[in-house]
Amino acid sequence: MSMNTQGRPTGTGSGGIAASGSALLPNEPLLFEIGDTEHSGVDLPEVNLDSDRLGGFNRKSKLDLAGLTEPEAMRHYVRLSRLNHSIDSGMYPLGSCTMKHNPRLNEKMARLPGFSDIHPLQPVSTVQGALEMMNQLSHWLMTLTNSAAVALSPKAGAHGELLGMMAIKAAQDAKGASLRNIVLVPESAHGTNPATAAFLGYSVKPVPAKDDGTVDVEAVKAALSPEVAAIMLTNPNTCGLFEPQVIEIAQAVHDAGAFFYCDGANFNAIMGVVRPGDLGIDAMHINLHKTFSTPHGGGGPGAGPVVLSEALAPFAPVPFVRKAGEGLELVEHVEDQALGRVTAFHGQMGMYVRALTYMLSHGADGLAQAAEDAVLNANYIKARLEHLFSVPFPDYPTMHEALFDDSFLKGTGVTTLDFAKTMIDEGFHPMTMYFPLVVHGAMLIEPTESESMQTLDHFCTVMADLANDAKAGNLERFTAAPLKAPRRRLDETRAARQPILRWERPEDTAQAVE
Ligand SMILES: *Cc1c(COP(=O)(O)O)cnc(C)c1O
Repeated sequence: MSMNTQGRPTGTGSGGIAASGSALLPNEPLLFEIGDTEHSGVDLPEVNLDSDRLGGFNRKSKLDLAGLTEPEAMRHYVRLSRLNHSIDSGMYPLGSCTMKHNPRLNEKMARLPGFSDIHPLQPVSTVQGALEMMNQLSHWLMTLTNSAAVALSPKAGAHGELLGMMAIKAAQDAKGASLRNIVLVPESAHGTNPATAAFLGYSVKPVPAKDDGTVDVEAVKAALSPEVAAIMLTNPNTCGLFEPQVIEIAQAVHDAGAFFYCDGANFNAIMGVVRPGDLGIDAMHINLHKTFSTPHGGGGPGAGPVVLSEALAPFAPVPFVRKAGEGLELVEHVEDQALGRVTAFHGQMGMYVRALTYMLSHGADGLAQAAEDAVLNANYIKARLEHLFSVPFPDYPTMHEALFDDSFLKGTGVTTLDFAKTMIDEGFHPMTMYFPLVVHGAMLIEPTESESMQTLDHFCTVMADLANDAKAGNLERFTAAPLKAPRRRLDETRAARQPILRWERPEDTAQAVE
């Protein structure tokens, strides 16, 4: 065995090989289980620190990193990545959270050095191209929605909701209507809507849905009062239906002195076809990571720009881009501005580039076609499966997602959860389950426009086979699923309530037990 210049044996102890020696293990051990801390995977020269530059904060204890070579560490992460299901590895029919294909062109553009190698504190004269990109993106978002202003900086849909509602609150305060302390939220809303309103101190008043799954304008009118500040409504709604009375609802809300916040997470279904501003919407967030094909998941980085109507535009936060002489400037301070800024610097630049690339490569007609194809795909799935599954709201054609419920499973002993877990064995990510809450045992499927007819046919064939098998009483296929994934059924509630976030060495655990 050779020693490195620090006297540590080189090599990785176990040889960097996963414990059982198989390269295709379904269970990938931790780095610390593969390598040990006594060996070093790299041969670094001795460090000679003449002076203490850390003001006495130098580490005293050992670093205890697992000693692995670069290829060993890389293989560990690549093996881990293969355990994930992703939109790049198979169909992801999750409803509500549009999971779109991320074209590689977007990635190429986001990596251009003029976007990826700049610093937010660089003089604006040196980043005119990046400002032009932000300006063009703003233009597209305002044009697609027919809005007066846009705030690009919120970092997710929920963050955008918060900003939009803060703008509404500021506008009500400016009108001297601070006593308006109620926000109306339909029962079918995404959980972030009531959470946002409650976070800002509003009390949330639910609006019931009609039996056909849409919001009733009469119910909205009955709930409106001089205490209502706004309604938060999703359109198309979370049942995948376009709200047929949305214009009357907007009219009634405005007549009562309130604002109309729209949750724009489902914009993929109508982009290029319907402009929310024409429906009377005052504020709406747009999830770039849903509608405009930027990567989604793992906690970000997302982007949730908010478009604002004429009435709310004066309350837009800083920063924003504005023409100045021949060039562009970034406005970072405005006198008497109600909200200031909602994020450090300018938001998620990489997401802006990807979204604008998607828009420019599709063009206005291409975006409309993407929306129409998404709606077509969802209706195709609904048409192919409705004789086997149950459809809670059969009165309307669906928009971008097909909603089923579990009544077709009644008496079979198979639950929505069992059904979803069995889809994993068939190579699909499960659909959204038990949401929207207004539908018992909901199964919400969103295929997006980028799935081919072959993929949809394969998906429908598998789903039909599962439905038939459940009805035939073949329980084994369902109750133990997934059988072909690295993990079986997990205690998800316990994992959420008692997360174990720290790995302990087996010997530490043994001592702790003693
Ligand atoms: C995804 C989603 C949100 C929240 O967006 P995030 O970017 O995940 O914060 C809000 N409402 C609806 C209907 C959604 O689907």
